[in-house]
Amino acid sequence: SKGAALVTAVAQRLASRKRQVDETLAPFKLSQEQLQLVKATMRAGLEAGLKNKGPSAVKMLPSYVYHTPDGTERGKYLALDLGGTNFRAMLVKFKKGLQNNTRLYHKIYTVPLEIMQGTGEELFDHLAQYVSDFLDYMGMKKAHLPAGFTFSFPCEQTAIDTGILVSWTKGFKATDCEGHDVVNLLREAIKRRNEYDLDIVAVVNDTVGTMMSCAYEDPQCEVGLIAGTGSNACYMEELKNIEKIRQKKQKTEGDEETPEAVEDKQDDGSKGDKKAETSETSRMCINTEWGGLGDDGSLDDIITPFDAEVDHNSVNPGKQRFEKLTSGMYLGEIVREVLLDLTRGGLLFRGRVTETLKTPGIFQTKYLSQIESDRLALLQVRSILQHLGLDSTCDDSIIVKEVCGAVSRRAAELCGAGMAAVVDKIRENRGLDHLNVTVGVDGALYKLHPHFSGILQETTRVLAPQCNVTFLPSEEGSGKGAALITAVARQK
Ligand code: BGC
Ligand code: MG
Repeated sequence: SKGAALVTAVAQRLASRKRQVDETLAPFKLSQEQLQLVKATMRAGLEAGLKNKGPSAVKMLPSYVYHTPDGTERGKYLALDLGGTNFRAMLVKFKKGLQNNTRLYHKIYTVPLEIMQGTGEELFDHLAQYVSDFLDYMGMKKAHLPAGFTFSFPCEQTAIDTGILVSWTKGFKATDCEGHDVVNLLREAIKRRNEYDLDIVAVVNDTVGTMMSCAYEDPQCEVGLIAGTGSNACYMEELKNIEKIRQKKQKTEGDEETPEAVEDKQDDGSKGDKKAETSETSRMCINTEWGGLGDDGSLDDIITPFDAEVDHNSVNPGKQRFEKLTSGMYLGEIVREVLLDLTRGGLLFRGRVTETLKTPGIFQTKYLSQIESDRLALLQVRSILQHLGLDSTCDDSIIVKEVCGAVSRRAAELCGAGMAAVVDKIRENRGLDHLNVTVGVDGALYKLHPHFSGILQETTRVLAPQCNVTFLPSEEGSGKGAALITAVARQK
């Protein structure tokens, strides 16, 4: 009959639409073999970065943090944190007794886009002004506090309080900062104000701060992970493996900051558990800057045309290729590129490419998280899309949810593959068959996305079967960590 023919035709159309969507999403689905390969690529990247052979995709930057906190940290510190789009100022007080710290107050300032992308002087003048506002608010303008500066961008460090910005990431592009010491830039901005004094004692990557703050609660925490606007990890590496530092030591003999000097001191001084102390001071936290993996083409096999487009439209094309597959700043853009393609192919939104769909940045992490939430009915997905200015049918909303799922699952799996490489390296460093280790984590993707953390954990477990990895979400995260590092640096 005519009716039956119509039903068949509709069913066939739906089936073919589904097939075409599946085909588009296929490159996002990574096999176990591909993930193993990413793990191996990351491992090779970590090793290459530790060598002293000039720039490498994975930068492996020394942090001059030699151990995790031991609970003897005391005092009042200012923690300043420039991360994605926010600047946080925070006063941290460590009191007697382990785990008895108090955050007294913190304040968040939004850095306007024109400042992120203006001149370096303007940017740091702004930061100095936020600090001024915070000190006013606290009534501490005269206090001359020791401060830790969490600066969540790749910095080449030669001491705990010097950090030369290698390159901006995450949409920042303020001029005259790359190649300069960001501690100096901040000190100069404070001097220009001529209004308050700060003693900037340490500059800290957010991964390192996160590891430190979690290690304050859990001594097994020797890895830090950020899955947020950007993506990065740090971990405790053996000093003897950090070739760059060993060679620098030979050139600047007598510099008291060199790790061997610290090691020697331990060897002479300690009577008690000498072996344990020596092994602890013979490590340094390395900021891997794993987001740069693939900048040498090593990930080209898994990079899709959609990823290439997102990279092409970014402020740093060709850079941070792993980060662009795994972090919040880019996932929404990948989704948008896929939706554009499906719409152009007539598979979505009735084939109508709207201005909204052509607008960069519409899919922020929070919307992806909402769309993928299992508690959400399709009608609610449609209302989110409506809110973003996208008119959808019920079928459309199913497809959009599928696209988001494919993109975020791949991100979590890749992150897990990277983490598997890191923890296996720590395990092998120590000649162990089995390693128990805790990873301190921060970032909106990890904390707010409904599936990211679960997939990350599962992938890490499967790819590093000889490691038992516990993920510990950080509270107060990098700010508290910076204060702890400042406290340790001050005690020396
Ligand atoms: C930066 C890292 C930072 C990460 C997470 C990346 O873009 O290069 O230094 O740790 O974002 O904030
Ligand atoms: Mg941050």
